[in-house]
Formats: sequence, C-alpha cells, structure tokens
Amino acid sequence: MSVTLRISGMHCAGCVSSVEQALRAVPGVREVTVQLLTESADVRGELPPDRSSQLVAAVRAAGYEAQLLTSPSAATQALVNDSAARERLRRHRQALVQAIGLTLPILFLEHFHHAMWPDTRISQLLFRFTEGVLLVMLMVSPAGAPILASGLRAAWQRTGNMDLLITLGVLASAVGSAYGSLMNDAAYVHFHAAAMILALVCVGRYLEQRARDRAAAAIASLAQRAPRTALVRRGAELVSVPVEQIVVGDVVSAPAHAAIPTDGDVTEGEAAVDESLMTGEPMPVLKRPGSAVLGGTLVMEGMILYRATSVGRASAIGRILELVAQAQSGKTAMQRAADRVAAVFTPIVLAVAALAFFGWWAWGGSASMAARSAIAVLVVACPCALGLATPVVVMVASGVAALRGILVRNASMLEAMGGIDTVVWDKTGTLTQGAPEVESLNVTGGAPAMDVLRLAAAAEQLSTHPLAQALVRHARRANVSLPSPGTFESRPGQGVCARVEGHEVCVGSAAYLSERGISGNLTGDLGADASKQAGPRVFIAIDGKAAGFVSFFDAIRPSSASAVARLRARGITQEILTGDEAIAARAVADAVGIERVGSAMSPAGKQSRVEELVRSGRRVAMVGDGVNDAAALAGATVGVAFAGGADVTGEAAGIHLIGSTPHLVADAVDLARVARRVIRQNLFWAFVYNALMIPFAATGRLPPAAAAAAMALSSLTVVLNALRLPRAVGWRRADAANQTRTDQPA
Ligand code: ADP
Ligand code: MG
Repeated sequence: MSVTLRISGMHCAGCVSSVEQALRAVPGVREVTVQLLTESADVRGELPPDRSSQLVAAVRAAGYEAQLLTSPSAATQALVNDSAARERLRRHRQALVQAIGLTLPILFLEHFHHAMWPDTRISQLLFRFTEGVLLVMLMVSPAGAPILASGLRAAWQRTGNMDLLITLGVLASAVGSAYGSLMNDAAYVHFHAAAMILALVCVGRYLEQRARDRAAAAIASLAQRAPRTALVRRGAELVSVPVEQIVVGDVVSAPAHAAIPTDGDVTEGEAAVDESLMTGEPMPVLKRPGSAVLGGTLVMEGMILYRATSVGRASAIGRILELVAQAQSGKTAMQRAADRVAAVFTPIVLAVAALAFFGWWAWGGSASMAARSAIAVLVVACPCALGLATPVVVMVASGVAALRGILVRNASMLEAMGGIDTVVWDKTGTLTQGAPEVESLNVTGGAPAMDVLRLAAAAEQLSTHPLAQALVRHARRANVSLPSPGTFESRPGQGVCARVEGHEVCVGSAAYLSERGISGNLTGDLGADASKQAGPRVFIAIDGKAAGFVSFFDAIRPSSASAVARLRARGITQEILTGDEAIAARAVADAVGIERVGSAMSPAGKQSRVEELVRSGRRVAMVGDGVNDAAALAGATVGVAFAGGADVTGEAAGIHLIGSTPHLVADAVDLARVARRVIRQNLFWAFVYNALMIPFAATGRLPPAAAAAAMALSSLTVVLNALRLPRAVGWRRADAANQTRTDQPA
C-alpha cells in the first residue's frame, strides 16, 4: 500500500535526504520518495492504517511538519491551488519587505556613520548598539525567525540542512560583531553581513517561489479542468456541492463555458463540447441525451444535465491528474545520484568551514579572517540548487507535455524517453488508422458466401479486435442475422475459434489456422492474385476445412510518413512489428518510409523482438495501441501507448499519447531530449557552483554577504533555466494546449 504525506519545512536537497532517512527507518516501509518541489513524500510498504501516524511522527522528529494526504494528486492540487499559492507568495513577500526594511538601515549606519557622528568611543558604541538591535529585530521577525528556528531545530536533531548552515553563518557573525563592538575591534564587526545573509535568503526564496509557481502553470491549467464544485440535482433543485461529494448516479448540471466535473451520460439538453484534452480532436462535439461525456472536457455552448457514471479518481480527468501527479513524485536516476551527494554535503561543508577557520587562525594569524571565511563557506555551500535542478524540469516538462496530449508516467520515463535511439511501431492503430473496414470476402471452399460470412461474423462477435469488429459491422450492414456462439476461445493477436450452429468455426491469421491443423489451401485458387493484397487478412475455416478469407482496408494515417521522417532526422532507427502478413506489412512500411519490418508476428514474438533489441544495447521506445501489445510495451525501455483520455490507466506504458497522429511520438522525443539536456545543465551548474565557490569562500575571497547573494542566485538560475524549456523545444505555452493532435498531413 502507499501513503502520501505533505511535508513542510524542506528547503534543499539535504532536507530531502533527512526526511527520506527518517521515513525509511519506520518499520514496514519499503520505498520512500520525497520531493522538494511538491513538498510531498510517497511511502510504500506493508503499512497497517495506524502506521500513518507513525510516519508523521517520524517526520516531525526529524524537524519537519507532516500531514497525511488522500492521494498523490492532492499534493499537486495543493501546489497549484490558487489561494494557497497566493497565500504562500504573500508570506514570502511579507518576509522580503521586513528583511529589506531592517537591513537597509543597518547598511546605512555601517557606511555613513562617520558622516553623522563624531568618531568617539561612545558614539561608536551607540551606533553599533543600534545596528545590533536592528539585527536582533530582523532575527526574530517573520523574515528571520523561521530560518533560524529551523536551523536550530536541525542542530538539535543532529541533521544537517540548509537552514542550519545559514543559521550558523548568521549566529557566528552576530556573536563576532557583538564581541568586536564591546572590544572596540572593527575587524570582527559584520552586523551588516548577518543582515544581508538573511535578507538575501528571503529575496532568493521569494523569487524562487514565484518561478516555481510559474513552473506549475501548465499543471494548474490542467487542474482547472477538474472544477472544485458542481451543480447537482438534490430533490427538485440544483445545489452546489464539492466535486468529491458527487456519487455515481447523481444528476449533474454542466452549464456553458465550464469544465464538466465527472464522466457521465447526458440525460437532458444539448451542448457543443470541446473534447480536445481527451481526444486531441479540435472540433467541438455535439452532445445530446444518450451521449457520453468525459470529466475535464469543456462545454462551449448550450447546457446539459448528465448522470454521473464515474467520479473522482475513476473519471477521465481524475486519471490524467493522477498520472501527472505521479510524474512529479518519481525521481530520475540522475536526481537520485544528486540526492546522495547532497546527503553527505552538509558534514563535508561543516568540515571545510572548520578547516578554513582553524587554518586562518593558526597560519593566517587573523581570528577575524578565520570567522569571515568560515561564515562564507557555510553560507555559500547550501545544496539547494542541487535539490531543485531535476524536479523543476520534470514539473515544467510534464505540465506542457500533458497539455499537448503527452502523459508521462514518471520522471524516469521522461529521462528514458530522452535517451531512446530506436522506435518500434506496432503498425495497427499507430501508423495506420486502426479502424479497418472489410474490403472483400473471398470464398475458397464450397460453402455459400453468405453462410461463411454469417458463421465467421458470429464467431467474432465476442472479440474486441478491430478486425473482428469490422467483420461484425460488415455482416450487420449486409443484414445478416448473427447467431450467438456456444463455446468461444480467443488467442490475442492470432484469432478466435467458436462453436456456431453446431459448426467449429475458426477465424484468424494463416499461422493460427495452420497451428489448428486446418486442411486445404487457405487462399484457394486465388493464390498468387490474392497476395497482391496490401491490407490485413483473416482466414476462415469451418469444421477444420479452409472456407475463405476476408481482406481489410486500414488506411495509413496521412501524417505517418512525415512523423517517421522527423524521427529519422533525429537519428532514430525505426522498425515495424505486425501480426499481418509480409506483403501487407511491406506495403505500409514502404508508404511511410521504414526499412525494417517484422511480419506475421504473435504478441509473444513482438515482445521477444523488443527484448532482443534492448539486450543488444538499444534503447527502445515501443509504440502500440496499448490494448493487445501490453507485453511488448512492457519489454521496451519505454512503452508508448496511444489512448483516449478515458483509458490512460494501462500500467505497461510509460507514456500515454492522447491524439491520433504519430507526430506525438516525435514531439515526446523532442521534449524528453530537451528536458534531459536542461536537467544535465542544471545539475552541472549546481555542482560547479558549489565546487567553485567553496574554495573562494574558504580562502577568504568571498565576503559572507556576497556568498549569500551567490547562493540565492544559484537556485534561481536552475528554476529559470527550467522555465526556458517550452521555448527550447519550440513550443510556445499557448501553443501547447491548442495544438492539433489529430491526424493531418504535414
Ligand atoms: P497488429 O500487429 O497489426 O496489431 P494483431 O497482432 O492485432 O495485428 O493481429 C495480427 C493478425 O492476427 C491479424 O492480421 C489477423 O489476421 C489475426 N487476428 C488477430 N486477432 C484476430 C481476431 N480476433 N479475429 C481474426 N483474426 C485475428
Ligand atoms: Mg495491434
């Protein structure tokens, strides 16, 4: 089972690892993922319900606040919740104003006291005293107090965090300054440095918060598709209730210009509904009584009443939000490495600071220099940029991707997608439309065509395969009445056998029928002629004898060739795997421009081909329709499934595509590659920054106040770098949502 906690009080990668450690120590916990950005923790393991309070207690003991959440998406919801975000930003702004308001007078006194007071011992003491009082005010104000309190708490609990480093820096300079003032030794007096450190931390946190909120914007616009309240019929009237209270069977009103809150069936009214989020189709769809509506779609015009059929996490929008939330909670391999580094960082930094202090004291001969460089080391070394480097990119990327119909399951799938070098297409429903129609029925045995059609279609009635359904449709259109089959047996990706009106009827691929020991030439005397057929075929046997075959037509998507070319231009090798026969497969491959084709493959064959590619060192994205290709999808480095928004649940796929053009695959590759690059840049800069700045600080070349500024800048840099992402892929933000995801020739 898994539990999600909301954690507050974390500021850097160091905090993340102490919370992770604390949670891992709780008995029964198997897996813990803590995220700085969403301030949440996912805990998995054998946890009886009452253990949750133990988890909360463990986090509190480590010096952070914890709270139980109902679902992972609740963490994202809280993150993008408008009023919560506004309140958070307001608090940061208030702290910022107070910090600056108290720091400016200190700086003023520090630099202009000569001009204001005669340089006597008394006036010296007086203005130093004023500085000291201002600093203490800053330290106990809402600006300074939270930082110092959290730092002291960390010291108390013997865990290192960013606030501890800052607190040590501030306290050291405050104590030094007090000593210097009393002893009349100006070299020790750095009231202004202590104030600047606190003020700059506040500036940094305020700017960082604003940038983080912007990073969540794309996800926020998705969350808006899940309204908080809805009008529900209770008795004779419509009352406004929170969406969580809607139950299956409730009659809900969906007025114009609003998002539909849950899935349901229309009972009254008429409306044009924009379903692009769920289908990629840009044209509004007319809904009338009897039509199904999906939660998260938008009523453009008109108004409907509908009966809720699935609600909450079971509804289409609920699942999409859940998936996007999950994407926030996973970690990439790179991030895990960075977290491990950050965990050992604080003790190392403390050691370096101590070394700098004693070094300067013993050999530099200056106690004030010793204090100054130790403080600078403490302040500059915070690994906060390291903690943000990856999650902020994952957040921006998964947000814009979701708006474009690309749902990434988790951070490591995004990372993996950015590294793929091979795309394997399961032909049907990806490169072709996947909506086959019967082209011709060819009878090769002696039976009359109508009988063959009736028996074959009857056998196929219980199959969900597109070819089966096309055959049934075809028979119904020809007004053939279909008896219901007795026994029925289906082999996925191969065919079906059923007992119909006392006959044993088998319908399926040539391989399937010969495996069943069907006698007679399957294509009859049409042999050579029939092999010109470019679409899929199914063969029919009645009572163990070949009876005929059906040829289908499955149109190639107009945009397939250009999407394939786009991937090739990125250096990606492509291959088609299909259950169809060689000729049909080759025809599609030639039309879209792919060399390698595997034909007449069973689902197991597809899976082993994919696994063979992976074993040979290729990083494979397997693209399928997600229904009968689950095994092959799961075997690939990344499974990519085309799905409607209504069925994005399949565990096999790491990425779900909502829409109908293979260009989405190329889009996903583009986005993931840029995301990987930006993550690398971020980690590089965060590391380099720490590696470069510490020596400067230790050798006394970086004053404490400048160290504080540099630290604030480094986390800001990684967040701003992440915000660049949509533009770096060539997507403008507005574009992402309005992009046509349906099939159009490019
Ligand atoms: P693809 O690889 O194109 O997705 P499938 O693996 O789904 O194709 O099916 C491969 C072949 O198996 C089809 O061309 C068809 O001949 C046969 N087949 C699979 N399922 C059925 C079915 N339910 N009825 C008849 N034939 C089937
Ligand atoms: Mg298929």
